[in-house]
Amino acid sequence: MGRGVKLFRVLGIQISLDYTWFIVFGLVAWSLAQGYFPITIPGLTTFTYILVGIISAALLFACVLIHELSHSYTSNKLGLDVKEITLFIFGGVAHLTKEPEDPITELKIAVAGPAASVALAATFWLLMHLAAAISAEPVLSAVFGYLAMINMVLVVFNLIPGFPLDGGRILRAIWWKKTGDLQKATQVASQVGKGFAVLLIGFGFFQIFMGNFIGGLWMIFIGMFLQQAADSSYKQLLVKKTLETIKVGDAMTRNVVTITEDSTLSTVVEKHFFGYHFVGFPVSSVRQAHDTSDGRITGMLTLNNVRLIPKEQWDTTLARDVMDNISPDAILRPEDNAMDALSRMISLDIGRLLVMDNGKLVGIITRRDIMKLMEFKADLGV
Ligand SMILES: [Zn+2]
Repeated sequence: MGRGVKLFRVLGIQISLDYTWFIVFGLVAWSLAQGYFPITIPGLTTFTYILVGIISAALLFACVLIHELSHSYTSNKLGLDVKEITLFIFGGVAHLTKEPEDPITELKIAVAGPAASVALAATFWLLMHLAAAISAEPVLSAVFGYLAMINMVLVVFNLIPGFPLDGGRILRAIWWKKTGDLQKATQVASQVGKGFAVLLIGFGFFQIFMGNFIGGLWMIFIGMFLQQAADSSYKQLLVKKTLETIKVGDAMTRNVVTITEDSTLSTVVEKHFFGYHFVGFPVSSVRQAHDTSDGRITGMLTLNNVRLIPKEQWDTTLARDVMDNISPDAILRPEDNAMDALSRMISLDIGRLLVMDNGKLVGIITRRDIMKLMEFKADLGV
């Protein structure tokens, strides 16, 4: 999901911008400066229109951000971990590490965004009237008026009952609550989403034929986005279902090669990294003379750890000096499922997890292991 620019953190959540956002931001600012504001408040200079266009587009961005933060804040409150939001202009994608486990949680999260947008619309509507009442610059009430309107547009758009829009999530939650069948509920909501997308694209072409080129293009653009999102979110659920049936014990690599704590980096690079072509190895404590066990796993040494040390020091640096500690979260049991493994990898941002059985290392599982098994299953049609 690295497609974007990292911006800043709010409430512990990393905010990123998708690259397409820059194009859309430019388009919004331009259409405001060229069309909307010259019509609403005529008689200002081109420079003023451009300035007001950019400021309004930036405020629109802030409103979309508040909408998304409202979803994420609610998610975090309800125990779902949201660490990152990627913003598109008409919404964002919160990177959920897990999906809501019951319909009521889903419903609360889905409603939180539109509720924030309604509050924003009301606030800007009041500000617009306030600005008019104290006879401030007409430009001010025009901007407030635009923001009140656009927030209501966001509410209406997001409440379209097609998954993965908020309205679609609400529909899915209600269906899910009624039937108890999440998969069917998702299928229905994403079908409705695709239906709306097709309508929107059709209406967009109609608008273009009627001479409203920009407006029509917008609708086609949003419709295509919606269609793709509806499709991929249903597929995601199917993948998730499949992952839940795979046991970590079946997907993991057995016979794990370990490094001892007192190996030098030169040895490790030569014997392990070059010898086995893995990018990470578990590190075990040095076996004592009276100890019959294989040694305790005390850390993990990855290519990144080695890369940080200058080559001249490889002869004198030991594995234990540069290895990463292993957090208890990064350890799985063979009976855990592949979905648990994948969501832990995402939330810890690491590519491999150790599999332990009664304190003994029995395997290691990577994203690649999981993907490979998924591919095999798909190839064999199971
Ligand atoms: Zn939303």
